[in-house]
Amino acid sequence: MIVRRRWTAAATTAILISAVLSHPGPGAAAPADPAPPSISLAAGETALVRVQLRDQAQLDRLVAAGADLANRPRSRDNRILVDLVLTGAQLAELTAQGATAVQVVQRAGDGSRHYADSVRAAQARTTAGLRAPAADQRTATATAVDTLLVQQAYWWTTNGQTFLQTQVATTATDDPDVEITVSWRTADGATGSFPLYRFEDSGEYQYHYALPQPVPSRPVQVTATSSLGGVSRAVTPALWPNAAPPPLPAGYQKDFIDAYLTPIDVQARIKRLARQYRDLVDVIDLPNRTQGYRRNAVAYLGDPAAAAVVVESVRFGDQGMNGVQVRTVDPGRPNRALSVRYRDRVLTVSLATDGAGKTVSTTDEVAAAINAAQANRFRATVEDGSAGLPMPVAGPARLDDGLQGTEVPARPWTVQALRLGVHRDGSRVGVLAYSQEHAREWATPLVTLEFAERMLANARTDPATRELLEQVDVFVIPTVNPDGANYSFNDFNMQRKNLVNHCTGSARDPRFRNSWGVDVNRNYTVGSLFDGYVGASANCLSGNYAGTAELSEAESRNVIALAKSHTNIKFAMNVHSYGGYFMWPPGAYKADGRVTLPRPSIDESKLFLDSARRIVGAIAQERGTVTWPSQTGPVADVLYSAAGNSADQLYYELGIFAWDFEVGNDRWNPATGEWEGVGFQPPFDEAHGESQEYAGGLVELVRVARDYAAAEAAAG
Ligand SMILES: [Zn+2]
Repeated sequence: MIVRRRWTAAATTAILISAVLSHPGPGAAAPADPAPPSISLAAGETALVRVQLRDQAQLDRLVAAGADLANRPRSRDNRILVDLVLTGAQLAELTAQGATAVQVVQRAGDGSRHYADSVRAAQARTTAGLRAPAADQRTATATAVDTLLVQQAYWWTTNGQTFLQTQVATTATDDPDVEITVSWRTADGATGSFPLYRFEDSGEYQYHYALPQPVPSRPVQVTATSSLGGVSRAVTPALWPNAAPPPLPAGYQKDFIDAYLTPIDVQARIKRLARQYRDLVDVIDLPNRTQGYRRNAVAYLGDPAAAAVVVESVRFGDQGMNGVQVRTVDPGRPNRALSVRYRDRVLTVSLATDGAGKTVSTTDEVAAAINAAQANRFRATVEDGSAGLPMPVAGPARLDDGLQGTEVPARPWTVQALRLGVHRDGSRVGVLAYSQEHAREWATPLVTLEFAERMLANARTDPATRELLEQVDVFVIPTVNPDGANYSFNDFNMQRKNLVNHCTGSARDPRFRNSWGVDVNRNYTVGSLFDGYVGASANCLSGNYAGTAELSEAESRNVIALAKSHTNIKFAMNVHSYGGYFMWPPGAYKADGRVTLPRPSIDESKLFLDSARRIVGAIAQERGTVTWPSQTGPVADVLYSAAGNSADQLYYELGIFAWDFEVGNDRWNPATGEWEGVGFQPPFDEAHGESQEYAGGLVELVRVARDYAAAEAAAG
């Protein structure tokens, strides 16, 4: 059953669940999307697809198989929408199991096309979502058996449309069938209502909520009612985020991003900024060089569909091993022993023969003989399904590292940070912004580089910016994971992890090449997989593989080394995509009882939330994008548990106020009444918009740091 076996193997690897933000109601149109209406993928094609799963059990199976969640799965009436990176074969299998593809968010080739489009253009220039069922106007029954508490009720206006979002908790926490309806009234007397949906996490009831709902104008009152008869107090929704940055001064310079940037482009940009703003910039070479854009060279000896041995070089392909040949030969004489020799870049295995001269070696014997005779040069493993089979005469096959990028240097990579400020001596409060821990999140280095250049360019012309760089010491790592990013640009768009392959045995089969690597943001020391926390995997092929140990990877060690060697850093922002989240610790919990890492104190929680509202307000200044209140909060509450993430180590170990952005907010489509996801590598216009709005958010973070330092100084 080779097909089944491949699916199972792939399910532990390439599947990821990344977003569940759109909940089309019954009969609602599918989201308008440039993708063709009939959703199908070629068997080997990989794409990011919004899928409606059959039931919770199907989601649970995917998660158990190592699914990589970028957004929180949410269910509605047992219907669950998730964004999955999957192949056509995997989609076909999911469909056969009752899932329905709703939207192709991004095809594998889209990223390359959007990159090429952006470069071409640059050269030329030099939800309500919920179609809620008709409002249920049932009146409260005589005896209420639950009590309702409105935990959140916020409204805001974006691009002319007003939205309302509420979160309500019932005391009937164990009743999965309780239905909650929110009724609203606007200042001019319009009324309406919408249903909320139960949200559980790790088996524990949290609250009922709905995506932001469009309302005709400012809502002045909301009331929640439950099917058990509970009625909440009437509440006046608050304006969200109700914080706005100072208006941009005349002549403020921005828009320094005109194309997607590869790691090589990022390197060049860092160099240019250092040259152009010598008085305000240091370039810091981080201490741990990465593996580089390199892989072992590998070949199938034999036919992988029949009987084969996987032969791999111990060194990387670029270290003289690409092109080396491997073959099996028939010695042509009876009673010969199995033998191995390596000469003139050809590995020759002479098969054993019986008395009649027939070859009798098995795949296992051939692999063992190569490993015994050439352990310093080659590793051989029996192809999954080929164990014990007769080894055919095969080859010569050429070993190859399979890497497609021709302009990427094949050597260890030095990750660089920019340090910006008038006083770069540790005497000022420090802010760290770092991005692209996850390779495929192409918009994220655009955010941090736009931010850096705004600070530098305006420091020369805008006194307020100059003053910020007088008071704050800013550190920026645009690309934490350059090797993975190079792989994402050149080989496999959906690459999330780094390029280090810790797999052993049959998991090193090259058909898993797009599933190797360590999830850098699951490799840190606090609340880690190794400590028993949820949201990372021990499977080397999983999308959120935690590595062999805490800080096993150069990429994660670099972030911590920078923070530890600059003890003035008091604030940090870890920039990811996509989904439109703004989060802080705790970022992980243990499954049993959902015990999170310690909650921040009341004072610190207030600092996190008050600062977040300021920063959300600054993000909205660019093009009206409002990060939802339901997606602003502790990671473990608003997203999911992410064991071993960097923000948790920065906060709990180093005392840094550490946040995470997920840039790329869902866009409201008034034509369909749906919130639509934007994906990892959207058309460049969208990525550009994200870079502009979130760079503004980072500038506000610098103001937060300045104000914090001033308050500390005033307090003595
Ligand atoms: Zn990410």
